[in-house]
Amino acid sequence: MVKTYDTVWDSCLRTIRRNVNNQSFKTWFEPIRAVHLDQDALTIQVPNKFFYEWLEEHYVSLLKMTIRQELGDRGRLEYQILMGPKRDTTSIPKPSSSTPRKDINMPGGIDTGNIKNPFVIPGIKKLKIDPQLNPSYTFDNFIEGDCNRLARSAGLAVANKPGGTAFNPLVIFGDVGLGKTHLAQAIGNDVITNGSNKTVLYVSSEKFTNQIIESIKNNAVNDFVNFYQLVDVLIVDDIQFLANKVKTQEIFFHIFNQLHQNGKQLILTSDRPPKDLDGMEERLISRFKWGLSADLSQPALETRMAILESKMVQEGLDIPYDVTEFICYNIKNNIRELEGVLISLVAQSMLNRREIDIDLAKEVIKNFVSQMSKEITVEFIQDLVADHFDLSVDKLKGQTRKRSIVIARQLSMYLAKNLTNKSLKSIGENFGGRDHSTVIYSCKAVQDLLDTDMIFKDTVVDLEKKIKMSLNEK
Ligand code: ADP
Ligand code: MG
Repeated sequence: MVKTYDTVWDSCLRTIRRNVNNQSFKTWFEPIRAVHLDQDALTIQVPNKFFYEWLEEHYVSLLKMTIRQELGDRGRLEYQILMGPKRDTTSIPKPSSSTPRKDINMPGGIDTGNIKNPFVIPGIKKLKIDPQLNPSYTFDNFIEGDCNRLARSAGLAVANKPGGTAFNPLVIFGDVGLGKTHLAQAIGNDVITNGSNKTVLYVSSEKFTNQIIESIKNNAVNDFVNFYQLVDVLIVDDIQFLANKVKTQEIFFHIFNQLHQNGKQLILTSDRPPKDLDGMEERLISRFKWGLSADLSQPALETRMAILESKMVQEGLDIPYDVTEFICYNIKNNIRELEGVLISLVAQSMLNRREIDIDLAKEVIKNFVSQMSKEITVEFIQDLVADHFDLSVDKLKGQTRKRSIVIARQLSMYLAKNLTNKSLKSIGENFGGRDHSTVIYSCKAVQDLLDTDMIFKDTVVDLEKKIKMSLNEK
């Protein structure tokens, strides 16, 4: 029988099918088309470079064996890549169709076009994924204290042996500004610098969610899930933001399971212990408990001092001891704030040509909280509250008297009054031209509810936290 590319590839597929599981076969081999046969070389067409690299990474020996079986010892594969060269070469293209994904950058770029003789390219490189880490978050500058000892040492263990400890997932939890992101990223940076050649990826829950929405829109959820399978160490920051996002949780569950099964490391951070993650599916929470949950608590005075001193060394600052002590005495529960005060202090002293002393520190600390508040806008609060209650901002500002909407509206005014510097009058104007007495009345109503309804109180505390946090992270 004369061999054609079709018959050769069909026989290859039969061998391949016997050697991989059904899911992989469907995902990675069914989409391939054979397009050309030239004595020793069979050319196959794959949807994109990503696909090609995946095949090379995972199935190179199988493909080699199969093609030699069909075409003899000199047999080889050549790839043709379907994606045109005009596409955004720094994104993972979606197989065989439209929009490339924007969110996941792959530095080094992806060439498109034909790739010849992949088997003779010595040691096919690993797929390069930008880990999205900030290199300045390291273990070296993460000061140890009682408040973080367990989390820090678990983090070190994980960094030394990703996927190879009992701490999988490693869940780091604690209040805002206590170092969750720093520690999680330090693990990632350590894995990268210790030369293990592992693929690390850091992603905020927000970005993760947006990627999912995007992939659903583009009908590319499978690509999305497959992409995450390339990662050896996955860091997902602030998973509390996945609460009540059913679809995102479902996909995350899937990714989590596959990675975990394959011995990949997961590192998650959260502003509360896994068991308190309301709005999170039980099956996810139970998985979070598989590994280790380690908390970051408020640092003691000595630790705060050590952190501030280390910060000063890093920045080359020299501040009198009594001043740093004064700052640390006063800023207790948020390291980011501690750093903020330091920076602000230095700025004030330079701007006003004043010496850094306790008096100046007092002024800075006094202003600090309200200085931050200046940046919070009424619109921002409205967006956030509307989102939380699943309303449109128009409804929130509108005239509806429905109780649930009225509460959301009153709460937005309350938050606007407490977290912005806006006058009552201007807040009222922001709510469809209401007057200042309505704002006063609303704040009073919210206060009454806070005093009596614990669940409502939790919601408000959460929202306040969210507002402050998103500000701090800008
Ligand atoms: P979170 O993610 O918990 O809100 P971050 O990780 O963003 O907090 O930390 C806030 C700031 O405090 C960062 O600038 C971080 O570098 C610093 N920080 C937190 N903990 C420590 C620590 N133990 N040593 C040094 N810096 C710290
Ligand atoms: Mg953080």
